[in-house]
Amino acid sequence: MKIVQIETFHLRWDPADPPARFSAFVRVHTDAGITGIGEASPMQGGRASLGMIRHEIAPLLLGQDPLDHAVLLDQAMHTLVKLGPEGALTGALAALDIALWDIKGKLTGLPVYKLIGGAWRTALPFYASIGGNGERTVDEVLRVVEARLRDQPAAIKIRFDNTRTRLDADIPNDIAKARAVRKLVGPDLPLAFDANNGYTTGGAIRVGRALEELGFWWFEEPVQHYHIRAMGEVARKLDITVSAGEQTYTLAGLADLIGAGVRMVQPDIVKMGGITGLMRCAALAQAHGVELVPHQTQPTIGHMANLHLAASLLQGTKPVEWNDPSTRTHAVFAQAPRPVGGLFHLPEAPGIGLTLDEAALAARRAELPAG
Ligand code: CA
Repeated sequence: MKIVQIETFHLRWDPADPPARFSAFVRVHTDAGITGIGEASPMQGGRASLGMIRHEIAPLLLGQDPLDHAVLLDQAMHTLVKLGPEGALTGALAALDIALWDIKGKLTGLPVYKLIGGAWRTALPFYASIGGNGERTVDEVLRVVEARLRDQPAAIKIRFDNTRTRLDADIPNDIAKARAVRKLVGPDLPLAFDANNGYTTGGAIRVGRALEELGFWWFEEPVQHYHIRAMGEVARKLDITVSAGEQTYTLAGLADLIGAGVRMVQPDIVKMGGITGLMRCAALAQAHGVELVPHQTQPTIGHMANLHLAASLLQGTKPVEWNDPSTRTHAVFAQAPRPVGGLFHLPEAPGIGLTLDEAALAARRAELPAG
């Protein structure tokens, strides 16, 4: 079997969406008539990743056997490493890895989770990941949390999404929001607090102590992601579990984070490595006794690829992430993933288990000038 064509395209979910909100998809065609789909991290619409695929990576893959995906993509990574290994390049390679696993599943007639060693669980609870709370008032935060409780999440994460250029901007108000949410949901529903890199080391420790008192489950990305030693210092000083890693793009980077003291890591399947890369991350985390709780906010391809991986983890210590509702959730797939009774069920269809609705895809497909 040979790769004969690699399509890259953006999806415009809502007619009003600017290009920065587009999704970035890839479809790989083989001479056997089997195709696979993948998704790149959609930062700024994923234009940089899709441009790299079109211009630099596709020529390396055409004519090759898709079952050689790990060799092919490691080769591409090392050939193109001076484009910058972190971000756009790893997102491009992640998209292709997911697509090639999808092909492998369709060739064998098996879901990806079977091919990576089987599932410890076939129904996965999720946590509601709620963004944008830095800009909201306390009351507005409560109203949004109330709305998400209707989906029966196993936990709630409040994300602050403040600018990373003003650290410790309003710590008392941040803590007030955490306290109000705890009061709203009662003592038993697990809660997480995502600082989105919004604090200094001292500020993070202050917030972390408050979260410990409020019984929060984990404290995510308290300081700038590139200050690895500071992330480790906060993790070591606090009792609450401190997590990081959604902005880590290499296995070596993840090892550095673990070495600094972080005990829960959150690599993202569409940002680094795809399914192959996340399997390597899982081995690394397991060897160090560190929790692997993948980050994942893309509701279709990224989410489904992540479900297969999350189901295969020996320790599923936390629910899978499910982002804010959006128009991205519904369109272009015949059976878009949806939770039932608070659970996502693994698909039994071959590959990652998503079937494109070609008419819906054609209506939302967007082309951008190559980046
Ligand atoms: Ca986060």
